Amino acid sequence: MKAHTKETQATMTPQKSLQFLKEGNERFQKNLKANRNLLEQVNDTSDGQFPFAVVLSCIDSRVPAELVFDQGLGDIFSVRVAGNFVNEDILGSIEYGCKVAGSKLVVVLGHTACGAVKGACDDVKLGNITPMLSKIKPAVKAVSETSSEKDQSSANSTFVNAVSYKNVALTIEKMKVDSPVLKEMEDNNEILIVGAVYDVSSGKIDFLD
Ligand SMILES: [Zn+2]
Repeated sequence: MKAHTKETQATMTPQKSLQFLKEGNERFQKNLKANRNLLEQVNDTSDGQFPFAVVLSCIDSRVPAELVFDQGLGDIFSVRVAGNFVNEDILGSIEYGCKVAGSKLVVVLGHTACGAVKGACDDVKLGNITPMLSKIKPAVKAVSETSSEKDQSSANSTFVNAVSYKNVALTIEKMKVDSPVLKEMEDNNEILIVGAVYDVSSGKIDFLD
């Protein structure tokens, strides 16, 4: 499989981009990798990059976007922060990927058993982790208000994973409010913004489109 070029990127639509990532995760689950020569891709991408998607995911070592979507060099922009939330810098990175570099899809990818989400559930306080976890607190609060779960700590995986799903949904909402650039691109059908959650026990990605 070749790295994307300006020409192949131009043939990608938001829906086709989503299909590419879905098929990539199917291959990953079956342990079928697309045939890629990464060293050749270094050479192919040396003059420029034409990625078709931006993936915002967690720093979790079990969820590297390129691997779980079976993508190569120059295929996706990978934005990572613990808890996959957005702020000014993250939105700037995503806007660059779409508006400047031509990507057609934004995926906000949460995951099960997320340590950042667990920390937010437990109200962990530690150095810069405290303000970081405050970005995930709205999801904890939203789930807490409607959940019948008695244990709302990190010990309850049902609660923790419900917060991961909610965090993805709220992150997308916030993205559309805080980034008029991305909102306008989506309204014009130039990009698609979708949520997804990766299951660390199966390798399967649940797309929320
Ligand atoms: Zn995580």
